[in-house]
Amino acid sequence: MRILIIGGGVAGLTLAAELLQQGRTAVIVEKAAEYTDVGYGLGLYPLGSGVLHGLGRYKQFLDSGVVSQTYEVADGKGKVLQSAQMQTFTADIGPLVMISRTDLIDILRDAAGAADFRMGTTVTGLDQSREDVVGVTLSDGTQEDFDLVVAADGIYSQTRTSVFGHQRPDDTGWVLWTWWAELPQWPKDLVREYWGRGSFFGVYPCKDRVMCAAGTPADEMTARPGDLDQARQFVRTTQADLIEADPRIGAAIDEATGFFPWPMADVRAEHWSRGRVVLCGDAAVGFLPTAGVGASNAMRGAAGLADELSRVGPETVPLALELFEKRCRKVIEDNQQDSRSVAKYMFVDSGPAAWGRDQLLKIYPAEKVVQQIIASMKTPF
Ligand SMILES: Cc1cc2nc3c(=O)[nH]c(=O)nc-3n(C[C@H](O)[C@H](O)[C@H](O)COP(=O)(O)OP(=O)(O)OC[C@H]3O[C@@H](n4cnc5c(N)ncnc54)[C@H](O)[C@@H]3O)c2cc1C
Repeated sequence: MRILIIGGGVAGLTLAAELLQQGRTAVIVEKAAEYTDVGYGLGLYPLGSGVLHGLGRYKQFLDSGVVSQTYEVADGKGKVLQSAQMQTFTADIGPLVMISRTDLIDILRDAAGAADFRMGTTVTGLDQSREDVVGVTLSDGTQEDFDLVVAADGIYSQTRTSVFGHQRPDDTGWVLWTWWAELPQWPKDLVREYWGRGSFFGVYPCKDRVMCAAGTPADEMTARPGDLDQARQFVRTTQADLIEADPRIGAAIDEATGFFPWPMADVRAEHWSRGRVVLCGDAAVGFLPTAGVGASNAMRGAAGLADELSRVGPETVPLALELFEKRCRKVIEDNQQDSRSVAKYMFVDSGPAAWGRDQLLKIYPAEKVVQQIIASMKTPF
């Protein structure tokens, strides 16, 4: 079967690795000329990381990440309102592991190593006028026919727009900036988020460094992330209360060597497939980071697609795509909804709403948020 995967990110590489196990070698076109280190880390639940067992990469994954033992939510002045021991609800499914995106991509790329990689390449044309094949034009001018085209080109998927039209994003109106810090004083197993009024700060330890994230409403953003000094000053100003309460926050901001800007919006595709073209990962259902399940769902979804494809030949590809959507859509969209629900509490602008949220947090256990995610892991997929 001739398979083209557009996008060599989390979903695309997972799919390529799974297909290799079936004896199928996919072509991967990745628009980046090479993989470079990016300014963020990922929390992977067994929901997604479980796929690595089957790929023989789970130990490598554990060695490259950090098990998050404690998850805490504090208010905008640094007072801890909730503290949850992850072990109490992940004991029977496996741990939540923080890993840099770069390290995860390295592991997946290794697993997908025998695929046909075309770096620095995109798709400029898709022709589905013939029933049994997709005609593809690549940015290097070559033309090839494929039995299946998988769009795994991320949340801003151009393939989704060209095949299904524009899908309106769901926007929280906030922006997060992420960056790496050393922060040796921070406990390696502690993830803590500070939910303020008009501000957010998160500390997520990975293997040798700590991912930090600072957020504000987009319309209050008065600095550009590319101007490092100006951006640092802006983050310091928005996190002034926290810096006063905990000097480690100020140190983390001072350590930034670049900020990765991330608009807090997601998207949901109305349809996942048309003919022999299918969406996978964020291209189908994009995620806010608020429940930490975007990459997990990208991996789980890719594995679900590979499994459906394992039972068809080139002539019945559209059936596999239909079954893939039936099998995965509800669980993945439910997780997306969980992320949206958490965002409503996390990103609060008004003083009274933040005060009410903080009172609620004192009595509403953080476990409840995580429990919904855990429940989806126990749902057949
Ligand atoms: C700061 C940040 C923190 C996050 N934290 C978490 C977390 O804690 N837990 C979690 O589970 N998820 C998290 N996520 C979300 C997670 O990264 C995504 O859900 C996941 O990467 C989706 O995988 P994907 O393969 O669909 O897309 P991506 O991993 O984004 O990969 C898409 C790939 O397609 C390539 N591409 C794009 N356009 C084209 C094109 N036209 N042609 C060819 N290639 C193209 C891109 O270069 C990229 O390599 C986070 C995301 C960010 C930005």
